[in-house]
Amino acid sequence: MQDQSSKIVLEQISHLTLTAPTDEIYHASVAWFEQLGLRAILTETSADTKATWLQLFCEETSTHDPAIKIAYSPSGLRKLPHSTKMDWRSVPAIATIITNTLKAIEELFASLPWAYQRYSIPSKDPLAQSEYSAIYTHDPMNNLLIFTDKPNPFASKKKTETAHHVEAEHTETQRPQFQALEQPDGRKRKIAILTSGGDAPGMNASVRGVVRAAIVRGCDAYAVHEGYQGLVDGGKMIKKMGWDDVQGYLTTGGTVIGTARCKAFRERPGRLSAAKNLVLEGIDALIVCGGDGSLTGADLFRAEWPSLLEELVNTGELTQEQVEPFSNLNIVGLVGSIDNDMACTDITIGAVTCLHRICESIDSISSTASSHSRAFVVEVMGRHCGWLALMAGIATGADFIFIPERPPSGEDWQDNMCAEIKRHRDLGKRKTIVIVCEGAIDSNLNPITAKDLADLLTDHLHLDTRMTILGHVQRGGVPCAFDRNLATMQGVEAVEAVLASRPDVPSPMIAMNENKIVRTDLMKAVALTGEVAKAIARKDFIGAMELRDPAFNQQYDQFIATTLSSNERSLLTHDKENCQPLRIGIINVGAPAGGMNAAVRAAVRYARNRGHIPFAIHNGFPGLIAGQVKEMQWMDVDGWMAHGGSELGTNRDQPSLDLGMVSYQLQKFNIQSLLLIGGFEAYTACLEMYNARESYPAFCMPMVHIPATISNNVPGTEYSLGCDTSLNAIMEACDAIKQSATASRKRVFVVEVHGGKSGFLAVMSGLAVGATSVYIPEEGISLTRLQKDVAHLCQRYAEDAEGKSQGRVFIRSEAASRTYTTDIVSAIIKEEGHQQFDSRTAILGHIQQGNSPSPLDRVRAMRLAVCSIDFMEEKACLSSSSSSSASSASSSGPVVYNKDPDSISVAGIHGSNVSFTSVEALLKSTDMKNRKPTQTWWMDYKRSCNLLARRTDLL
Ligand code: ADP
Repeated sequence: MQDQSSKIVLEQISHLTLTAPTDEIYHASVAWFEQLGLRAILTETSADTKATWLQLFCEETSTHDPAIKIAYSPSGLRKLPHSTKMDWRSVPAIATIITNTLKAIEELFASLPWAYQRYSIPSKDPLAQSEYSAIYTHDPMNNLLIFTDKPNPFASKKKTETAHHVEAEHTETQRPQFQALEQPDGRKRKIAILTSGGDAPGMNASVRGVVRAAIVRGCDAYAVHEGYQGLVDGGKMIKKMGWDDVQGYLTTGGTVIGTARCKAFRERPGRLSAAKNLVLEGIDALIVCGGDGSLTGADLFRAEWPSLLEELVNTGELTQEQVEPFSNLNIVGLVGSIDNDMACTDITIGAVTCLHRICESIDSISSTASSHSRAFVVEVMGRHCGWLALMAGIATGADFIFIPERPPSGEDWQDNMCAEIKRHRDLGKRKTIVIVCEGAIDSNLNPITAKDLADLLTDHLHLDTRMTILGHVQRGGVPCAFDRNLATMQGVEAVEAVLASRPDVPSPMIAMNENKIVRTDLMKAVALTGEVAKAIARKDFIGAMELRDPAFNQQYDQFIATTLSSNERSLLTHDKENCQPLRIGIINVGAPAGGMNAAVRAAVRYARNRGHIPFAIHNGFPGLIAGQVKEMQWMDVDGWMAHGGSELGTNRDQPSLDLGMVSYQLQKFNIQSLLLIGGFEAYTACLEMYNARESYPAFCMPMVHIPATISNNVPGTEYSLGCDTSLNAIMEACDAIKQSATASRKRVFVVEVHGGKSGFLAVMSGLAVGATSVYIPEEGISLTRLQKDVAHLCQRYAEDAEGKSQGRVFIRSEAASRTYTTDIVSAIIKEEGHQQFDSRTAILGHIQQGNSPSPLDRVRAMRLAVCSIDFMEEKACLSSSSSSSASSASSSGPVVYNKDPDSISVAGIHGSNVSFTSVEALLKSTDMKNRKPTQTWWMDYKRSCNLLARRTDLL
């Protein structure tokens, strides 16, 4: 173009790569584009194919490094341009070129024998001739191009900016955190990660988190292969990692970069060699993901570091100048261990996935055990730590467990166990499951083996007994959602810890305490971990239990209290002399959620063991109104731990359907406490009954709401039952969708998930599956945001290796926007992808409720149910001792009358505690209109989700 003021931008992209099949067409194309103001340069000539590659730069981006590459490679010259008779607007174009010299371009085309089509969109403004115009034409390679003066909202903020520019603008001004860190000497920091010791599912997610967070923070990331052995060997074992090198890591079990048990590193010469290799690579920060052994080695390495460098200089292996910049070695520990045996952290990477594998196996064993009326003794891993055995025992409803920290009491424990199992059999149980930790011992420290127990059951009870040693199946498989997110968050935090580290501060270990990712003192944690084994060795079992995480002790007692059938000591009157047993109604309200049945089971069994009488209220409030109330026995809930859905029946109806009848039926059955297990509807039901207490004294009794909804939108708790099951269901679906998208190449899936007005499910599943974009109601969706997403996609697909484009997933929460529906978002992506990628939708719907509840939901259900019954006892005891002016309760049974606002509460999980908050107090922190808490604790997960998808534009 002759006009010096002409401005042309390629829509969404900074340059375009095309293929000219012959020299002649290449030269013709260069001349043609240059006439239009687009600069074409030869970048590569392939001798084999005789193809010439040329890249076109628009004026504005000509100085830019061609970082963005459009993945466009036609197999050859299109035979003919599209017929001039057809409307070219219906044909996908390879690029849209926005220009303010459209008139000049048309004049040029008119002066040449060049076919083009011109369209004008009339303006609503009568003074303007047209809103915009577009010229469609083919270049000499027969590619369809659009020239337009349309101010397209997807082009950029300013009309003539490229996506590249917009990107740069945001990364400079909108990054409060995660910005690239400049070193004072201009050197890039080099951070290495290794995985060591026993492998654990989720280790790969932590490697991915470390690599990507390091890159975003302007550091170079390295992976040391084969654990410490790679450090000792150096060379090819230490590899620089790029962004895409960790693609697919989320879904892979074990550790891709390998792990090993390295004898050499235990000796100083091995560590000397490791130090030399790190200096030679220029690495001064090491993140170690492993168990206590690996972390001990890491801290020793750091402590020895100055002396190792000195020795390397003295022996002439390295020069003083070489070691000078590396006077300190930063070490950060990540705990990867399936055993959950590390002190100072509530959970370790891999333990929950391992629990999934154990529960899947025992659920399968249970059905065959039931069929043949057999007993099974199942040995699980855990070495000196009984966490896996205890949690598996709770989650599968086992009859007995054996763990190292709490050996069976008394010399006659074998007789006690047999007597208990016989009681269960007499009650009608057809199966017996005994779980034994591989390190289980008796109180004299003699090992208790699976074989001993199997022999015992066969010889004493004459049960048809089988033994299953689960072995390495427990370590393997796809990591669960919890581990992916834990490992990712901890990986990101490890990089932050490296960047914040100082020589005078002890090495940190990244831990999870009270549902928060925190830094703790690595060596203290290692030392405390060793204390458990020492406490066991000196038979201080109480001390050993106390060294475990805060919930461990309580959960063990709760397991016993919900598993063993009633005995005198478990009765309420044994520890609360003045209290009377209660008649407890149990009702499900709202949509089904994983763990509802597990909560009912635990409540029924614990209530019965305490001497209370539990009643099932079937089919929610309509069922109660219809009098569908039935006493429940210990065996009625057998096997319910593993059942999904709601065995009692559930629906969304509220007591206001007929408050009078609800009150009448509660009085008729003399229900003295009510346990509601359900979602936001259960919360509003509690509120309705609370507000109606004046008119209906029957509601003046203790009521507890156990939150159970996949949306996790109930106030007063960090987690509701069902949300973990749902996350895993969404994750599995998205893994499959992503796999399909990757196989199809160049496909984006917009996946719609539940959650109501809460973005919890979308964010947590987005992080677990590595979503490129997550839309949540808390943020909404805007055109600007869609524009960024499309620009990001263009960039990412352009960077993908030729022919290997990744499938990508967007997660859209169902209520993220009324306007930008899942279909519309997908259509926009497809349209703007201009053949570079296309888009499909997947609306997951009710499969998100999952099938069998996840182990975490089962364990949480048991804990909440037991604590809720305790809470009811406390409130009922209070009212019976303080209130003589008793109520309207019927003549049978004790009087319970409690008007105290606290007597209707939500049972919530807060960190490692269960606590109760009155429904009235929770009103202050509840957004009733949008049916969710006013505060969200999980927004940090959203930030990490953006970070891991390289969305620095959204940080
Ligand atoms: P885990 O990390 O799972 O506890 P190990 O105890 O086997 O597994 O430790 C893994 C590796 O960590 C060992 O093979 C060794 O290379 C290194 N390591 C463990 N303990 C030490 C130590 N005290 N000193 C040096 N290196 C150690």
